[in-house]
Amino acid sequence: MTDGAARILYIEDNPQNMRLVRKILVHHGYTVLEAIDGGSGLQTAYIERPDLILVDINLPDIDGLEVTTQLKQHPELRQTPVIALTANAMIGDRERTLAAGCDDYLPKPVSKQDLLDTVAKYLQRGDSE
Ligand code: MN
Repeated sequence: MTDGAARILYIEDNPQNMRLVRKILVHHGYTVLEAIDGGSGLQTAYIERPDLILVDINLPDIDGLEVTTQLKQHPELRQTPVIALTANAMIGDRERTLAAGCDDYLPKPVSKQDLLDTVAKYLQRGDSE
């Protein structure tokens, strides 16, 4: 799905980050679903089956790593790309997020071009499904 109609779930508790990322994605033709904590993010993923999931690591209930682990255990969502967003990027973030099952990782503040490139890369990968 590369025509911009892809549905992306963003799980993020920070309203400013949500607004910024939503604006970039909507401007590029994506549909953005929103969740403000891990529990509602999982529920939305189960119900809506988005094409791709962006997940903040620091969430108020269960963290983004646990969210990812649960998503990757779900038979219908296992193949859905999950990209982690982490604040205050530290050495080891990439390893931690990939170990939890995230397909990729973007440090905050998110660069617009990195976001768009990474999203496009993982949506293209799903074309054959
Ligand atoms: Mn957060």
